[in-house]
Amino acid sequence: MTALPPDVEALRVRTRDFIRDIVIPAEPRPGVYLAEEVLSDLQAQAKAAGVFAPHVPTEWGGQGVPIEHWSPIFQEAGYSPIGPAVLGCMAPDEGNMHMLARIGTPAQQERYLRPLAAGDIRSSFAMTEPHPGAGSDPSALATRAVRDGDDWVITGDKRFISGAEVSGFFIVMAATDPTGGTPAEAAAGSGSAQERRGQAATMFLVDRDTLGVEVGRSIRTVDRTIAGGHPYVRFDGVRVPSSAVLGEPGKGFAYAQVRLAPARLTHCMRWLGLARRALDIALDRAEHREVFGAVLARQGLAQELIAQSVIDIETADAMITKTALVLEGDQAEANSLSSIAKVYCSEAVYRVIDRAVQLTGGDGVSDELPLIQYLNEVRPFRIYDGSTETHKFAISRRASSRRRREVAAGAPRQDVVAGPEAAGADDGGPDSAGPEAADSATAEVAR
Ligand SMILES: Cc1cc2nc3c(=O)[nH]c(=O)nc-3n(C[C@H](O)[C@H](O)[C@H](O)COP(=O)(O)OP(=O)(O)OC[C@H]3O[C@@H](n4cnc5c(N)ncnc54)[C@H](O)[C@@H]3O)c2cc1C
Repeated sequence: MTALPPDVEALRVRTRDFIRDIVIPAEPRPGVYLAEEVLSDLQAQAKAAGVFAPHVPTEWGGQGVPIEHWSPIFQEAGYSPIGPAVLGCMAPDEGNMHMLARIGTPAQQERYLRPLAAGDIRSSFAMTEPHPGAGSDPSALATRAVRDGDDWVITGDKRFISGAEVSGFFIVMAATDPTGGTPAEAAAGSGSAQERRGQAATMFLVDRDTLGVEVGRSIRTVDRTIAGGHPYVRFDGVRVPSSAVLGEPGKGFAYAQVRLAPARLTHCMRWLGLARRALDIALDRAEHREVFGAVLARQGLAQELIAQSVIDIETADAMITKTALVLEGDQAEANSLSSIAKVYCSEAVYRVIDRAVQLTGGDGVSDELPLIQYLNEVRPFRIYDGSTETHKFAISRRASSRRRREVAAGAPRQDVVAGPEAAGADDGGPDSAGPEAADSATAEVAR
């Protein structure tokens, strides 16, 4: 881990001790949800130990750690699959707190951020919809919000909404007319997903008990640790005042980036902590298990698995650290690096845990050890917060567009070959089409 300011390092050590001494002994059996009363009790202990809400500004009751130093603390929290929930820094609450702190009004912060930061309520972020609505492609957003006097009326279906079975409020992403107009104008804008591309979106803060909010069928996913589910949620003509708009109307897609860049990086941090735990389990087993006359840890094939996992963990750690430094700066750079880190970390963490499963044999795939459940916990991370493919699509497009701009600004193309008249004349002699010829061809194209 990188050198930390003394107060952050002290918090990291306190967090590490708290997770190992208090949280790990209270973990439920693999595949069993953490009971709400156990969670409340552990959260009370975390507050007493001064380790609760590390990321939350002190004025809202947290530890006030700056974002560039979150990673070491979040990794300590993630060393237990229940650690982030106990410390109040789990998704989606942590990302929602970040948004509220950044763009919420003072009244919204008082009403939603304060109880959320204190762990008194939970929250959900409602973006994904049943097909053909928003999933990988947010511009397919089908949930709509229309103005009606001073109110907004939200209508649409969402699904996979984490924590919705217990959350106190939702941040709802809805398509809104770019002109901020009337229902008729907004209706005129509706159409296919492609037609809606480029349309504005707005985020709304919606209390769970608002008329028209219906939490529907649960979706059983492979993760098990934290209760709250990922159910369907219907917003059936939900009427909210204009004070429920989070930030400005029409800026929902931009705010989603404000939320998602750090939110996906903090997922990397937490899951990297769990990968470290999996490696420790594998190392302890490899050190003590003897097969064919030698302990596993001294056998080359096992060492290969261990070494690859160490490399994955350290590479992921370095990428997270680099990305965390730019999160508060240039937004385009933050989005770009966090996409890269998300792809690498989500795949690396899965590989590390999978190798740990392999090294621990039958115990690895059973409930005798927690590893197969860890694998289930991290598998969805390759899909939510942008799937690997969605991010690779964006990474590749950004790379191409950066290079196009450079070449358009005069940088010589690097792919230009000498052409047929130069074939066979590469003996280096005075008549050959050597580097000079290639240079002039490049210059020709660049013009
Ligand atoms: C455990 C869990 C928790 C979740 N929590 C929330 C939540 O709290 N709030 C919320 O709003 N949503 C949540 N989601 C939903 C999640 O964000 C979506 O599942 C995700 O965005 C993918 O959307 P989709 O399921 O509709 O898949 P689709 O959009 O149908 O995508 C399917 C697959 O298409 C591929 N693909 C995508 N883009 C490209 C591309 N450019 N090129 C090639 N292939 C591509 C990928 O392999 C992708 O997995 C959660 C999901 C899970 C599993």
